[in-house]
Amino acid sequence: MPTSAARRRWSLTRYFAVVSVVAMAALGCALVWVTSNVMRGQALRDGTASAETLTAYTVGSVPSDAFADGLVSPEEQAQIDSAATGFGDRLVEIRLWSATGLLMYSSTTGARPGFPDNDRFAHVQRSGAADAEVLVDLRDHDVPGDGGSAMQRRVLDVYVPVRASDTAGPRVTDAGADGAAADGTAGDGSTPAAAPHPDEVVGAAEILLDHTASEAALSDAVRTVGLVVGGGLVALWLLLFRTVFTTSRRLQSTALENARLALLDSLTGLPNRRLLAERMRRTVTAAHEDGSRVGLVLLDIDRFKDINDSLGHDRGDELLEQVAERLRGALRDEDVVARLGGDEFAILLPDVRSVANAERLARRVRALFVPPFTLGELSLHVETSVGVACLPDHAHDSSSLMRTADVAMYAAKHHRTGVSVYSADEDDSSPARLVLLGDLHHALDTDADAEPQLEMHYQPKVDLHSGKIVGLEALMRWRHPTRGILAPGTFIPLAEQSGLIHDVTRFALSQAVAQLALWRADGRVTPVAVNLSAHDVTSSTVVDVIEGLLERHGVPPELLEVEITETALVADPSRVVPVLKRLGSIGVKVAIDDFGIGNTSIAQLRDLPVDELKIDRLFVSDLRDGGRAGSEVVVQAMVDLAHSFDLRVVAEGVEDQETASALRRLGVDHAQGFWYSPAVPAAALPALSDVPRQRRPRPPATAAAPVGPGRTTTGTGARGGAAAARSPRTASSEPNS
Ligand code: C2E
Ligand code: CA
Ligand code: CA
Repeated sequence: MPTSAARRRWSLTRYFAVVSVVAMAALGCALVWVTSNVMRGQALRDGTASAETLTAYTVGSVPSDAFADGLVSPEEQAQIDSAATGFGDRLVEIRLWSATGLLMYSSTTGARPGFPDNDRFAHVQRSGAADAEVLVDLRDHDVPGDGGSAMQRRVLDVYVPVRASDTAGPRVTDAGADGAAADGTAGDGSTPAAAPHPDEVVGAAEILLDHTASEAALSDAVRTVGLVVGGGLVALWLLLFRTVFTTSRRLQSTALENARLALLDSLTGLPNRRLLAERMRRTVTAAHEDGSRVGLVLLDIDRFKDINDSLGHDRGDELLEQVAERLRGALRDEDVVARLGGDEFAILLPDVRSVANAERLARRVRALFVPPFTLGELSLHVETSVGVACLPDHAHDSSSLMRTADVAMYAAKHHRTGVSVYSADEDDSSPARLVLLGDLHHALDTDADAEPQLEMHYQPKVDLHSGKIVGLEALMRWRHPTRGILAPGTFIPLAEQSGLIHDVTRFALSQAVAQLALWRADGRVTPVAVNLSAHDVTSSTVVDVIEGLLERHGVPPELLEVEITETALVADPSRVVPVLKRLGSIGVKVAIDDFGIGNTSIAQLRDLPVDELKIDRLFVSDLRDGGRAGSEVVVQAMVDLAHSFDLRVVAEGVEDQETASALRRLGVDHAQGFWYSPAVPAAALPALSDVPRQRRPRPPATAAAPVGPGRTTTGTGARGGAAAARSPRTASSEPNS
């Protein structure tokens, strides 16, 4: 995938190549040009020096008068000829020009030009310096070795100034000598010219030297220089280019590697949060365009912190790697598996047909955790909570998709349902939830005359050995005006987060105590347990409320029990324990709810002022069908532990005979569950004559009738009512297979 950065880097190399080639070529040309100019200048200077020497030789025998009048006698001509002969082949021609530009002498006999090059001639006369120029000799001539063919010969044409001192001086003639001496006139009657000053330029010699060989040598030299410079520069360029290219390659691959590392999780090699966010953004954009559905599955490992703390971080890392391995192996290529950090993983489903399909996949993912993980010698059972959200069903963009999947995962963890699809009810910030909160306010506010929306249902606790009902747990239901009956899982967390929980608890307590008073007046007595929230037990207000209610309704405190979850208990023991102690001191019994999923240590359990321990239904359901390996041992340990501290043990969520038998065998005291009865309205409970009568003012002789599936006395029927009594959430999140 060529990124724009990669393209930019490559074009840098190319840019360097082009610019450096141009620069090197310019440098090479400049070098060659300068060198050839220097050599050419040198050749001209050499030629000029030769010409000056030749001029000195030749004009030394010419009288200065000849330059003045332009006439050379045949004897003088013969003298010049003989002076020039010593200069060999290189000399092409000698011309002597008089001061006025008349050709006085030429060494050749052929066609001769009548005039000098006026500009140059004038320049030489003015400056007194020689002037050299290379000309093309257009005349036919023989070039040795060229088969006598005509070719253009190069000639160095040098004008050399002739000073009076260079010449042989004035002509010496008898008449002239006398006349000049006697009357200052020439012998022919004219006035003799004054003798020129020795430095005066009296004329010029034009020396033409054969320059062809020099030019050829010069071209050779320039060619050689060109080759050397060119070769050197090419070699240098190649070296530079190679260096730049490899460096750029290295930088490029380092940058790519860094970019890759920044997008991958270092432990598992899976895409990280950033890469996932990028993919999500693109997938969501595509989905908006083509109307497809995008699913996001979030999962985290239950109790990973405990695994890390107890087995060490190396083992924790090993587990994460194995989880990544399983996830990667089980999904389609187009699905993106990412690690978000810690023990959180995400799976992006770019094109999922329906929410149900996404949920099915989430269940498949959860099933990947069924085979134990092997960490060294250890075989470890690990569970995960999985949240599912889809776009456009639950979210409209990638960030809301991430948020809704997170809400769903949190719900799965909180309700221990394993897999949970996003529901606005669970979402603190969803408008639906805010509406529900308003409705709850209203439900708690309704005046005494109106039909209350909130009501308490009661689920029997049964003695496992006698089969008799030994108590009831009060569970709240909300008859919502538009949404039907809502289970507490829907609104209790909402009440806890909004501070309404104290009103909810007050309602539950007053209903339960009032019901106890009614039953008691009827002569029928069985203890009722009310669930308290973690928020209730951090201050003793709740104890005052309970005391007030018991007193007002004349109900003995031992008929009321409270249930507090283990997690609430251990969250803040320093504040909770004094409240529990006060409850104990007024005679109200305390049960630890959902025991086994918190982290209570044995020492803590011994010090807690509690009377009953309710084993969480997670462990109870493990006993079904022979149970998961070790589940009986776990329950047995809990029972032994509780009994050793004189606590009563109650098993929750008993749904079948087999589980009930197993619990009985393991020594569990009481049981509760759909197998006996779901929570039902007070009016639908078994006739209270069937309930054991304790501390009744007038104990009747009737024996207590055991309840059970075969002889249910509830209005809805135990098994049949079970499903109906289950919360919509629990029912809907049950695997539909
Ligand atoms: P919990 O205290 O653990 O209550 C037991 C839950 O298990 C009840 O759910 C009950 O209907 C359900 N259950 C009973 N037998 C079985 C069974 O055989 N199988 C299965 N699968 N479930 C069974 P419910 O009524 O939906 O209550 C859920 C939770 O809401 C309760 O858990 C409790 O923590 C809370 N809650 C209920 N009423 C109140 C209340 O008045 N005040 C407060 N603070 N919390 C309440
Ligand atoms: Ca409970
Ligand atoms: Ca419970």
